[in-house]
Amino acid sequence: MENRSEKEIPSRKRPNLVKAHLDAITIGLKTLLTRKPMTMMYPEVSEEWPEGYRGVIIYFYDKCIGCSLCSQICPPRAIKMYKVPGDKRLRPGYDIGRCIFCGLCVEICPVDALAESKVSDKVFDKLEQMVFDPIDWTFFTKDLQKEQETRRNKVRVIIDEEVGLRYESTVTK
Ligand code: SF4
Ligand code: SF4
Repeated sequence: MENRSEKEIPSRKRPNLVKAHLDAITIGLKTLLTRKPMTMMYPEVSEEWPEGYRGVIIYFYDKCIGCSLCSQICPPRAIKMYKVPGDKRLRPGYDIGRCIFCGLCVEICPVDALAESKVSDKVFDKLEQMVFDPIDWTFFTKDLQKEQETRRNKVRVIIDEEVGLRYESTVTK
């Protein structure tokens, strides 16, 4: 009697593995030699964010009048008021881990003591490091401003039909 399973399974040609490997190597070499990279040398080079981009919030202690409007409006309670030794007013502190970058605090501040930076790629080892009291927030702001200054090698991402993504420098020489 004829074995049913043998009848149903069509015979398959064994693939030529040597040819398949050679084809793959050829495609790889061709791509390596002819295509431009789709990546950038981050962090030496970074993307220029568009106008109005909302990054980490920065704080200017000297401008602040301690009105607490920012902490009242903040939806996820990322801003809380703190006592600062030697200061009669309460001042805001900031928890980056809670911030949703909505920008409401910046909008409501009556004296422009808050602003949106263009930095969003901060890395912290521990959650506790993401919480700043008013003094720490002031120092963090100064560091961020310096960082923004030093990150001058900016690129714009262009969608390219041939390559996929391509980066164009925004620095005019
Ligand atoms: S940007 Fe929004 S979430 Fe972040 S601190 Fe300001 S109000 Fe709060
Ligand atoms: S809203 Fe502005 S002035 Fe008022 S506490 Fe916040 S940062 Fe200070």
